[in-house]
Amino acid sequence: MSLPGAPYLARHGGDLQLDGCSLDALAREFGTPLYVYSQRAMLDAVASYRRALAGRPHLICYAMKANPSLAVLQTFAQAGCGFDIVSAGELERVLAAGGEASRVVFSGVGKTRAEMRRALQAGVRCFNVESHGELDLLSQVAVAEGRTAPVSLRINPDVDAGTHPYISTGLKDNKFGIAHDEALASYRHAASLPGLQVVGIDCHIGSQITQVEPYLDALDRLLDLVEAVEAEGIALQHIDVGGGLGIQYATEAPPQADELVTRLLQRIDARGHGHRELLMEPGRSLVGNAGVLLTEVLYLKPGATKNFCIVDAAMNDLMRPAMYEAWMAIEACRPRGGTAAAWDVVGPVCESGDWLGRGRELVLQPGDMLAVLSAGAYGMSMASNYNSRARAAEILLVDGRPVLVREREQIQDLMARERLLP
Ligand SMILES: *Cc1c(COP(=O)(O)O)cnc(C)c1O
Repeated sequence: MSLPGAPYLARHGGDLQLDGCSLDALAREFGTPLYVYSQRAMLDAVASYRRALAGRPHLICYAMKANPSLAVLQTFAQAGCGFDIVSAGELERVLAAGGEASRVVFSGVGKTRAEMRRALQAGVRCFNVESHGELDLLSQVAVAEGRTAPVSLRINPDVDAGTHPYISTGLKDNKFGIAHDEALASYRHAASLPGLQVVGIDCHIGSQITQVEPYLDALDRLLDLVEAVEAEGIALQHIDVGGGLGIQYATEAPPQADELVTRLLQRIDARGHGHRELLMEPGRSLVGNAGVLLTEVLYLKPGATKNFCIVDAAMNDLMRPAMYEAWMAIEACRPRGGTAAAWDVVGPVCESGDWLGRGRELVLQPGDMLAVLSAGAYGMSMASNYNSRARAAEILLVDGRPVLVREREQIQDLMARERLLP
């Protein structure tokens, strides 16, 4: 198995390094648990999408729920990206990081009135609308604000993305999107509402997709609709094919972004839609392989049937294993010699589901630093304060130099909004 995160992540004389920085040294300098990301890996990931989109009207909207840290958003904003947001909080983050509202698409099944109002005032590029009720409310809010809301309908194309049920979103029985059969009626309805302007069509079929075919199936379903909608005199400027491209956690070999985009553009051209602006909403594929979570080995508890390695990071820091039974590679930052044993790498949280990896062949001593790989997406963004644990610090490596972009949370921060009874 190649090292997930290569070539940015590599061993130099045994020492595990990200962008040439020793992860063991970073863990000792900044403390653990610690997230470390390579800015270069993020920028190269955007560049792969861009290469295939060159010369085409397009907008890459980073789906920021994957990793919403301000410095990460700033990195993508400076690279010319837009953003896919799912809450008003995410919009405020984009603006705080120097991103432009005019490059923001607002997704999500449960936008509130207040969120709609704020997004209209900020001037987002469009709302990806997911139901009739949302169309009606958005129109009302827009009229009350004296504005027109640009809308794109999120269509549920009913294709199987071939991924985990929790992260598959394009099937009929998911809560997401407007059913393909109802889409034409929804477009007619949208076009009839006074506060709305129809501008595009959208879909997002799932996450950690490792093949091109589900995208092509969804695209075909989308283009069928574009043709039907335009036949009714409703013009669509853009096609948004969503995000979802997978990364390497273990032995997956997802298509490269430029390969995926090239295949999509071939299909779009073949069907005579090459003039339209293409929007994409990649999240995981821009940041996932760019980051690692560092953690220190606290105790070793060898046992009759299982060996437990207790580390200082837990499910509150990295939820994916507990939530999706996700397999993430775990490597010693400075491997030692000796005979490996199989260890369950677990955290201090009081839950049996609190594990980061099971049955991992490692040679370990307390005080060793471990790296959980491919942790740049849905790691820190899903972190919680469960067990009153303060959240980790974050380092962004900029041109190979470590920059502390999020201080370690303090216990005082956790209690700041609480009140004792009088
Ligand atoms: C989560 C999400 C994305 C990004 O998905 P990834 O798998 O991280 O690429 C894109 N669009 C929407 C609407 C989403 O909810």
